[in-house]
Amino acid sequence: MKNKENIHLERQLLDEAKIAKNYAYAPYSGFQVGAAIHTKSGKIYRGCNIENAAFSATNCAERTAIFKAISEGDTEIDAIAIVSSADDVTYPCGVCRQVMSELMPEATIYFEDAKGNPVVSSVKEVMPFMFDNPIPNTKK
Ligand SMILES: [Zn+2]
Repeated sequence: MKNKENIHLERQLLDEAKIAKNYAYAPYSGFQVGAAIHTKSGKIYRGCNIENAAFSATNCAERTAIFKAISEGDTEIDAIAIVSSADDVTYPCGVCRQVMSELMPEATIYFEDAKGNPVVSSVKEVMPFMFDNPIPNTKK
C-alpha cells in the first residue's frame, strides 16, 4: 500500500542509505552497500558494509544499521532501505534475512537500483521460512 507517508519514508530512507553507502569500508571487494532503517520511535539508523582482512569478520550494511538501533534500545524497526554500488538491486544475504526475520519481522524493505528504479518488498517476502530457535524457554 503506497500512501503519501510511505512514499516520503521510502524516499527518505533510500537517501539515507545512499549516504551510508559512502561510508562503506570495502577495500577487498570494492562493493559498497548502504542501509538505513526506521524505527517506530521515528529515528533513522544508517549502516554500511564493513569488510575485514579476515573475511568472516565482515559485517553487512543491513546488520550494521539494525545492530545500531538494537544497541540503543530502539527495537521496533518498521522499515529498511538497501542500496549498493551495483547496477542492479542488491537483496540482503541469508544471514541478514535471518536477523531481519527475528528483529524486524513485520518490516517493509525498500530497494533501488542504480537507475533509481524502486522495488518494495517485506521481510516476510524475502524470508518466508525463517529459522526459529526450537529450544524451549529460550525466549524472553
Ligand atoms: Zn548481509
